[in-house]
Amino acid sequence: MWFRSDLRVYDNPALMAARNQGTTCAIYFATPEQWREHDWSEGKISLVVAQVEALSRELAKLNIPLTVLRVERFADIPERLACWVRECSVTQVFFNYEYEINESACADAVTAMLHGESVPAWGYHDQCIIPPGQIRTRTGGVFKVFTAFKKVFLEQFPTRSRGIFNRPEMQHAKPFKGNSDALSEIPVERRWRSLWPMGENEAHDRLNRFIEHKINGYRDDRDVPSLDSTSALSPYLTLGCLSTTQCMHAAMSANYGRYQDGNPGVLTWINELIWREFYRHLMFAFPDICRYRPFKPETDLLPWSRDEALFSAWKTGQTGFPIVDAAMRQLLHLGWMHNRLRMVTAMFLTKDLFIDWRWGERYFMQMLVDGDLASNNGGWQWSASTGVDAAPYFRVFNPVRQSERFDPKGVFIRRYLPELAALDDRSIHQPSAAQARACGYPLPIVDHRLAVDSVKAHFKALSLID
Ligand code: FAD
Repeated sequence: MWFRSDLRVYDNPALMAARNQGTTCAIYFATPEQWREHDWSEGKISLVVAQVEALSRELAKLNIPLTVLRVERFADIPERLACWVRECSVTQVFFNYEYEINESACADAVTAMLHGESVPAWGYHDQCIIPPGQIRTRTGGVFKVFTAFKKVFLEQFPTRSRGIFNRPEMQHAKPFKGNSDALSEIPVERRWRSLWPMGENEAHDRLNRFIEHKINGYRDDRDVPSLDSTSALSPYLTLGCLSTTQCMHAAMSANYGRYQDGNPGVLTWINELIWREFYRHLMFAFPDICRYRPFKPETDLLPWSRDEALFSAWKTGQTGFPIVDAAMRQLLHLGWMHNRLRMVTAMFLTKDLFIDWRWGERYFMQMLVDGDLASNNGGWQWSASTGVDAAPYFRVFNPVRQSERFDPKGVFIRRYLPELAALDDRSIHQPSAAQARACGYPLPIVDHRLAVDSVKAHFKALSLID
């Protein structure tokens, strides 16, 4: 079993298939150079290392030895895997698909290399509830609008989705001893493990707690960042400690098995799982999004700004817009940001500062513990109005109005911007110049109204070209 972003023993189609074929051993490749090239954050790398350690312990309970090998890049994997296959007399290799360009090329190269060794390699879909490529328009095309995708997704869910796989049964004896020493060579920051404890048990506890205590209120509370009302499962899904199939079934079980009607909190959460699904299906159909290309190619003609000083103010939470700054400091502190605030900050960067969305996309990847190419790219292209089914360019969030609406008493702002804690509930969204100076807080780096007029003019000029 070749583990990748599927670091779990429960509901793992490839692992189950491997066990069904006989005695199983497992391998994982740590690829630090490739991770850096893919902008994996320090937090995400630390969590991956912790999760591989946890996985190794879970596999040991099943008598499945895990070998961890360190290579620098994906390109090194086929050769090393072929050697390991020979050393361990492996007769078949099982793995789950990944849909990003380099990951998918890596699996193709592995399959070809093993073919040369007369060892078949079998791929399985585990990342989506319905495998990508299977939800099609009536004419066989790809859905580019979420609501249409969702409608067909829900119609086809009973026939096209798979059931949940249990943990494979323990094998009688370990074929050999595993070795995960290579993990100790990878520098990790301990603080990430305390913020985000890893392990499948932890992921399931979080899922269960969410279903038990929060899902009922999810529809009403999910946009309020001070409430801790979302599942915070994204890092666990990104690493594959948990599957979206498991999440979907857990949500349905709280709604008497239903997924189209009933509990509004459950249905809203399922809607979010389907957004994740939508972006993955899009990436599968349009792999170019892995190459920083916009869905709407004409938007590449926009004269995006490359102002380093403004970009730096945004990154460090020094824009003078409290909700934006509090959100960016949440990202620095947790490696995670609330969904509403991801939209607010992404729109602020691309519309108020008119900075190239790819700068923001890359910075998010470099900071997030849940950095996921498909969802991150989807979110950024939505906010920048360069994507499919994106926010229309003329509907720009006003950061002050967003703040008043979703953090009315400034509870979230006060948590991350203690310098503003003493301001009253009204001024905290937009301190006056005198208040800002007194608090040692920056003045706004941009005039929202003027910026929006200018960005609309740029987009409008583009539609005239079109
Ligand atoms: P919940 O609200 O509990 O939702 C459950 C799960 O559904 C999430 O864990 C996630 O897997 C999925 N989900 C929820 N909302 C979305 C969405 N809008 N798009 C896709 N999937 C969704 N999500 C990532 O996992 N990784 C990213 O790198 C990422 N980057 C983003 C960048 C931008 C600019 C935006 C606007 C959104 C991004 N998202 C990303 C989507 C979303 O913000 C996070 O998935 C969500 O905030 C995670 O919190 P949660 O687990 O509490 O979500």
